[in-house]
Amino acid sequence: MSTLTFGIIKPDAVRAGNQGKIVDRILAAGFNIRGMKLIHQTRKQAEGFYAVHAERPFFGELTEFMSSGPCVVLALEKENAVPAWRELMGATNPAEAAEGTLRKEFAASIGENAVHGSDSEENAAIEIAYFFSKLELV
Ligand code: ADP
Ligand code: MG
Repeated sequence: MSTLTFGIIKPDAVRAGNQGKIVDRILAAGFNIRGMKLIHQTRKQAEGFYAVHAERPFFGELTEFMSSGPCVVLALEKENAVPAWRELMGATNPAEAAEGTLRKEFAASIGENAVHGSDSEENAAIEIAYFFSKLELV
């Protein structure tokens, strides 16, 4: 059964002009794009989105980065979308990301790592609702 996940092409990847290449890779991997838009988050929005990481030492750096420029938010559909998208993204730290993954190709560091992906279907639904209204999902 096809399911949904939530993705972000992060500000580093948009700044580098890699958003088109990443969207190409998403389509080539067989995802159906159900929602897509360019946004520029405020610091507060980024803090809300990453609230689960509020106690982590990198929270300030992360929310500053995520609000530093435009990013592309995506609602992605595929069979087992959550693990399929995490597999295409690769490991959080690009130094550990497998060959052929987006983070291996496009990420510069563990903090500025090109893409975000939900870690569960439950969180995917919450994250999609954080950025998209029903009218923006096809
Ligand atoms: P993932 O994005 O792979 O699910 P996490 O949920 O653990 O990874 O972390 C969320 C985001 O926080 C990462 O994608 C990355 O941008 C940032 N981050 C994670 N660990 C670190 C770290 N040690 N130093 C700086 N930033 C980090
Ligand atoms: Mg995560």
